[in-house]
Amino acid sequence: ERVDLVRITHEVIEQLETKAHNRDIRIKLTTPSDQIWVKADGYRISQALTNLIDNAIKYGRDGGKVFVTFEEDKKDWQIEVRDDGPGIPPEHLNRIFERFYRVEKSRSKEKGGTGLGLAIVKHIVNAHKSKITVMSRVDKGTAFTFKLDKVE
Ligand code: ATP
Ligand code: MG
Repeated sequence: ERVDLVRITHEVIEQLETKAHNRDIRIKLTTPSDQIWVKADGYRISQALTNLIDNAIKYGRDGGKVFVTFEEDKKDWQIEVRDDGPGIPPEHLNRIFERFYRVEKSRSKEKGGTGLGLAIVKHIVNAHKSKITVMSRVDKGTAFTFKLDKVE
């Protein structure tokens, strides 16, 4: 299946707009062109983007920003979802993709959620023969990236 990443991302952002607005968070999409064709399952990639952007809003800071960025490589497109929120302490980083794992139970609890979002993202990204990576710094923010094959 070939899908337009830009269209999918616009749809996902539109779905999450109210949630972001309620916390005074801006979602910024940076794309080098207004159509980006990738080999992917559109439905599942929008689910992965939804889970990542939903987290960026839910765990981000009030008045913060969420950056969604597409960058071109030789054979693929790199997709990044980044926030300027509180970040994830390094000792938790290698566990956040596990099912039901949530950082700081008490603080996460009031935000709601089951701890499945990132496990689903990892599953979807792996099914596209790609890897999800995370970089985070406490008090600076968190960035998730993965790649999808270009359509020749
Ligand atoms: P669900 O997605 O099922 O509603 P959830 O958001 O708690 O629940 P995940 O999306 O799997 O579950 O995230 C796991 C944990 O990782 C979260 O509970 C949170 O503690 C942490 N986390 C995820 N994304 C971020 C982020 N962008 N910034 C800070 N912490 C995050
Ligand atoms: Mg989540």
